[in-house]
Amino acid sequence: MNFIADSMLGNLVRWLRLLGYDTLYFRNVEDWKLLEMAKGDGRILLTKDLALYRKALKKGVTSVYIESSNVAEALALIAKKLGIRLRFDGDNTRCPLCNTLLMIIPKAEALHLISPEVSRKYDVFWRCPKCLKVFWQGNHWSTIEKILEEANTLVGCGH
Ligand SMILES: [Zn+2]
Repeated sequence: MNFIADSMLGNLVRWLRLLGYDTLYFRNVEDWKLLEMAKGDGRILLTKDLALYRKALKKGVTSVYIESSNVAEALALIAKKLGIRLRFDGDNTRCPLCNTLLMIIPKAEALHLISPEVSRKYDVFWRCPKCLKVFWQGNHWSTIEKILEEANTLVGCGH
């Protein structure tokens, strides 16, 4: 399942990429262009704009209207509507910046790209083959897990 999101959903986009979903995002893009890309590419349009949502439905583009600014609620809504899985899978995760599938790299390969402190604390590293950025499950990881748990709970309890 592939997505395209409107410019108001930058935060949600990073989450979907983390979860491995191919998600296009542009900071500045006109509505007609979003609709055209969604249709041409068979992508599901995620939008915070009710007018755009209605336009999408009229054009036969599958769309989810994201009312909430809370990312756990937004993820839960998408999961309920489309049945996506809200679990992190290290073999299927995408660059939050450019949407490219990340590759797990050996620690030795990451060493010259990270600080000594990071290398002391972490053993698993990912690298984006396109923008070459290196990622690891840093201090913020527990927050990520908490939010995913919260989203999965919301999916389960029918809100
Ligand atoms: Zn990248």
